[in-house]
Amino acid sequence: MTADMSNRKNAVIVWFRADLRLADNRALCGAVAAGKPVICVYLLEEAPARRPHGGAQLWWLHHSLSRLAESLAARGGALCLRQGDPGEILDKLIEESGADSVFWNRRHDPDGMAIDTAIKASLKARGLNAASFDGQLLHEPTLVKTGAGGPFKVYTPFWRAFSALPAPRPPYPAPETIAGYKGSLESDQLEDWRLLPTTPDWSKGFNEDWQPGEEGAQEKLRLFISDGISNYADGRNMPGEASTSRLSPHLAMGEISPFQIWHSTNGLEDRHSPRDVEVFRKEVVWREFAYHLLFHFPKLSTKNFNESFDTFLWASKPELIDAWKRGQTGYPIVDAGMRQLWQTGWMHNRVRMAAASFLIKHLLADWRTGEEWFWDTLVDACPANNPASWQWVAGSGADAAPYYRIFNPVLQGEKFDADGVYVREFVPEIARLPNNLLHRPWEAKPMELAAAGIELGKTYPMPIVDHAVARERALAAYKSLRGGQ
Ligand code: FAD
Repeated sequence: MTADMSNRKNAVIVWFRADLRLADNRALCGAVAAGKPVICVYLLEEAPARRPHGGAQLWWLHHSLSRLAESLAARGGALCLRQGDPGEILDKLIEESGADSVFWNRRHDPDGMAIDTAIKASLKARGLNAASFDGQLLHEPTLVKTGAGGPFKVYTPFWRAFSALPAPRPPYPAPETIAGYKGSLESDQLEDWRLLPTTPDWSKGFNEDWQPGEEGAQEKLRLFISDGISNYADGRNMPGEASTSRLSPHLAMGEISPFQIWHSTNGLEDRHSPRDVEVFRKEVVWREFAYHLLFHFPKLSTKNFNESFDTFLWASKPELIDAWKRGQTGYPIVDAGMRQLWQTGWMHNRVRMAAASFLIKHLLADWRTGEEWFWDTLVDACPANNPASWQWVAGSGADAAPYYRIFNPVLQGEKFDADGVYVREFVPEIARLPNNLLHRPWEAKPMELAAAGIELGKTYPMPIVDHAVARERALAAYKSLRGGQ
């Protein structure tokens, strides 16, 4: 491909990453405002430079890119797809098109930042224009500081400092038209990337639950603002209720920005309880806190934040971890969560905590085992939220759960799924048990089991570990941590 010299110094490349949207996309807005032809590109980055997306998120990415390409085309633009080393591909695109600028929205994971910093320096050294914009976080991680100017390790003071900063900026509208680059540029075919599962195709439940893309994100936000937020503070703990926004996969892919979410809650205090609105905003800021931690402690995703955990003797058995993954632990709330994850690519937050605690504390599995499984199976897998949350549950994290907090899976089920709506949906083989036995099927009498059509150990497993025994074992292991707590 030869460079189109008539376009030399006359085009801007917009490098799309985890910002697959047109609205509130400052890099795109900046390129359009520059009045030059715009080349929109998505690069499929490869390991080891970047952690590859898990299977569930690849499914999402396929559909999201497809929607993005349609939206760009409707406004006069086009999406170019390439695969490989981003620095090399951008250089090649510059060579082919004569572009003199590359714009992108900042990302905050250590690998991504390292790549971007090197590319920016290389472009600038050659007299090219490289500009990066905000969009992934409401405030850059360096802006939220302790009194001494350092990073926060605990959420509550982080929230206080965050709240004292100027209000997040308003979102930018999508450009109405995009002056697409007129030369010819080769693009990979999305289908050739083979992002969708085939053998087997496990994505049926995903299609029912999700509409990847910017429009789907806006629809989720609209539904939440009109419905979910009115009971968010309490309802958010009930996995059988649709009280949370389910915006997380859209946020993870950047189909919606935190600015759009934040501003959609402005003024809601007049119509809803201020508590519901504030609790929701605080959750959105938990995501900011996770990125803050990852930014300041880049090893968070693979190393214990609290190094005393490095000597912890994890003692899990592969067959038990496998039972956990398959939703066959014999504890209905844990099994329902793990099956929801497998079938839909998402799990309710309350159940994520119970399922993660079960893996770490009941099975004494290293939190990284769970983090990796979630990374592969979650449509919202997030480089900051996922490890930060796993470390929170393990007790090895920054603002971590105390070691003696071992979720009782029976009580968690009975408290947060008292009417059994959630467990009955995902563990249908025990659906006919009455509520008082649903979360403890092994206590049912033979006649009660027979009436519910259950053969324990055959149609549904006996608990793979005894809660009381596992609890004592976990407490002993945690207490033996030298200087751990
Ligand atoms: P809502 O309740 O509607 O909240 C709105 C937004 O706030 C969410 O989309 C999310 O961005 C943020 N948020 C909400 N709760 C939390 C939280 N506890 N921590 C951080 N941010 C939060 N979230 C991810 O986005 N990606 C992950 O990979 C991820 N892994 C997790 C692993 C474990 C073990 C646990 C316990 C939690 C994990 N979370 C993760 C956090 C949380 O479970 C999800 O963000 C939440 O369930 C998403 O559902 P929602 O969009 O309906 O949330």
